[in-house]
Amino acid sequence: MVLGVAVLVFCAVWLGIRLASQREGAYALVKLDGQVYGRYALDEDQEIDIGSGNHIAIEDGTVRMADADCPDRICVRQGRISAEGALITCMPNRVTVQVQGSAGEDEGAPDAIAY
Ligand SMILES: [Zn+2]
Repeated sequence: MVLGVAVLVFCAVWLGIRLASQREGAYALVKLDGQVYGRYALDEDQEIDIGSGNHIAIEDGTVRMADADCPDRICVRQGRISAEGALITCMPNRVTVQVQGSAGEDEGAPDAIAY
């Protein structure tokens, strides 16, 4: 019984993540050292320096780590992301870039939000 509920919850969460990851995001939420560094609209082409070593670029509704001074450069190789929930992580510099839905209202009903 308990196991059944646990499996059900797991499936619901997994499905939620899947659905979320298939939507196009609206913002890139940048965190540096676990703190929110800034939120940038994906519909506006721009380039942002994060901290001292990371440089992200927003182009055509996608965001990518354009340059980084970390030794592994895994973040740069992750390329462009645009799906809601997608994430670029730069472990050495403790920078994350996550794509979010409109106005940062993750889950819930985006249609109900009035701009
Ligand atoms: Zn990196």
